[in-house]
Formats: sequence, structure tokens, C-alpha cells
Amino acid sequence: MNMNLGTTIISSIEFQGKISLVIFMAKCPLKCPFCHNWELINKGEDVSLSEVFKIIDSDVDYIDAVVISGGEPLSQLNDLKKILIYSKSLLLETKLDTSGIYPDRLEEVVGLVDYISIDVKAPFNKYKEVTGANIGENVKKSVEIANNAKNTYVECRTTFVPSLLSPEDIEEIGRNFGCDSNIGCDEYTIQQFRNQNVFDKTLREIENPNPNELKRTAKKVKKYFKMVKIKTSEFGCEVVDDVS
Ligand code: SF4
Repeated sequence: MNMNLGTTIISSIEFQGKISLVIFMAKCPLKCPFCHNWELINKGEDVSLSEVFKIIDSDVDYIDAVVISGGEPLSQLNDLKKILIYSKSLLLETKLDTSGIYPDRLEEVVGLVDYISIDVKAPFNKYKEVTGANIGENVKKSVEIANNAKNTYVECRTTFVPSLLSPEDIEEIGRNFGCDSNIGCDEYTIQQFRNQNVFDKTLREIENPNPNELKRTAKKVKKYFKMVKIKTSEFGCEVVDDVS
């Protein structure tokens, strides 16, 4: 049976310090209002796994890693697993982007993943309000599973959407997911919301957050995490210690 593919790109920023092939798998059970990839939520293009393997084969000489993003890659668990196994067989590193909605499925693949990036879209108690789905507990479990995996680097990341989240919410996320929470992650990244082409058209009117405000918010949560970064279109990716 075929899998559902969004697209593939080559990137130097999705897996730090590495050139990666990024495979965007289609399908996602959520409908986050700030989603940029909403065209992939329901369906992508039908392709066979062997076609995906061919794409990996054609790039293998100049990539270091395969990044699986989406959509929600764990929506197509069996295909995801096969792609990860195939990538590992070629000695490529692997990264998985997930919303954390499927902890049980994550458990099945986490041993095949070198780097996992989990979206923490809101504090536990605000998940329904921000995403439309009450999945805070699933996300918590997913972060725990990722953290317990040996040799897997764990990033938690939040897209700061000004009309949906406040700086106080980011602090609450720090308390929920930071080192003192017994969950923790290797790094926490605050991503700047960008209003272009988001799913909820009303959010297209919202101004992108000011990078300096994001820096101030990031500094406040530094105490909760081993490392905090911000990603903005103006300055790229910055470690909070390095920003003034
Ligand atoms: S932002 Fe991610 S989790 Fe949310 S709808 Fe889009 S693909 Fe799904």
C-alpha cells in the first residue's frame, strides 16, 4: 500500500550542523489554527515506499541525515518506521518532528531516532484553547518517552502566537516541561509565529512577534531548561545566552 507524502527538500537548518533530506509526511489528526502545512493535514500525494527509498538513495552521497516532518509523521507509523530503518541502514542520522499526540506510537520508533523535536504548543491546561484538542497529557508522555530513550537528543519547541499565548504561558511551559518538572528536555526553542499562509485566516492579520520581545521571554525561561534558543526570521537561530 502506498504512503502519503507531502514533499521533500534538502536543508542545512533542520538538523543543526548537518545537511539533511527533509521528508514531509502528509496527514495529521489536529487542526492547529497557526499551522503552516495545513495543505498536508488531510492528504498528500500517494507514493510507494520504494519511491521514497529512491529519493534517499539519490541524495545519500551528500546528506548526513534524514529528517521526518509533517503533517504528523506518526499518523503513518508503519511507513515511518520503514523509512527510519532504511535511513539507519545507510548510516544516516535521523530526526523526527512530532506534535506528541501519539506517545504509544512514539515508543515504537524512538530507538530509531537520534534527534526528536516535540511541539509543546501550550501549557498543559491551555492545550484545548490553543490547538482545539486536549492532548497535553499525550504530549507530556511523549516528552517523557523521548527523554528516557538512550542517545536521543530531545528538543521541545513552542511557536509563540501572540493572540494565543502570552509570555506568562511560556513560563508555565517552563514549569510544566523544564528540568524541575521531572520531564525536561535537552533544549527548548521558542519559534516566532509567521502569519503567512496559516490555517486560520483570522491569524493572518496578527503581527509577527517582535524578536526583542521573544528574547526577553526566552531569558525568563532560561532557568527552567539546559539550553534555550529562539528562532526568528530576522536573526535565525540564537542561543539565549548569546543574545543581548
Ligand atoms: S501544526 Fe503540526 S500538529 Fe498542528 S495541524 Fe499542523 S501539522 Fe498538525
